[in-house]
Amino acid sequence: MSAPALRERPSPNHDSRDERAASLGAGSPRIDMLVLHYTGMQSAAAALDRLCDPAARVSAHYLVDEDGAVWRLVAEERRAWHAGISFWMGETVLNTVSIGIEIVNPGHEWGYRAFPEPQMAAVEALCRDIVARRRIPAWRVVGHSDIAPTRKTDPGELFDWPRLARAGIGLWPQPAAALQRRRGRGVGIVERAAALADLARIGYQVEPGNETPSLVAFQRRFRPERWDGRLDGETAGRLAEMRQAVEAALAADARRRRDRFRDYRRLN
Ligand SMILES: [Zn+2]
Repeated sequence: MSAPALRERPSPNHDSRDERAASLGAGSPRIDMLVLHYTGMQSAAAALDRLCDPAARVSAHYLVDEDGAVWRLVAEERRAWHAGISFWMGETVLNTVSIGIEIVNPGHEWGYRAFPEPQMAAVEALCRDIVARRRIPAWRVVGHSDIAPTRKTDPGELFDWPRLARAGIGLWPQPAAALQRRRGRGVGIVERAAALADLARIGYQVEPGNETPSLVAFQRRFRPERWDGRLDGETAGRLAEMRQAVEAALAADARRRRDRFRDYRRLN
């Protein structure tokens, strides 16, 4: 599938991804993360106005309307202002390394509703193109609530993450037979510690005070039928499966890098 047709609506809200690296001649800065949002406003027009308002000081690289129209607001080489205070796998200031996509939806404040098919098809095509061009690893495709769980709920529990994973965008855990048996039960203190370690390994910020918001963010995305922040057997099982998916993807990536390095040495 080719890149989707873009409509241009330049936003003034952007800056350099890495002025220091540029001034040192250190080459182009790293862009290896994709952050998905919903607009959380009453209309697409209102969202576009706000994302282009210099006083609002917010933006994203792209906006996808409910009819599937894709607007480009900020060039990918520039840093857009969409993530805010954020954390993933120990890294912060994620605007610097990410591409942000706003998906039109009124959100939890104005009447959260399903994302229509033309919109999801456009999101899928856009993400597929970006992930391929930028070689964004699957474990670095996130929702805003994954990286800012105490502040954000977008894109929310109605967003179709499994569909994107089937298209090669982001990870989705495979049900592990051994974990099914734990599902019906509550978890004890040892299992709780293991589950929180899984949550941290997947990328979430896990610290006293934000364990529950991080669990809710995980559930919204990976167990959307119930996102109450309770660490039950079902959530613990899903966490273990997702950790396995992340570990497998990281190991495969490390193998690919090693093989590339070996080929490089052989050729030089
Ligand atoms: Zn957001």
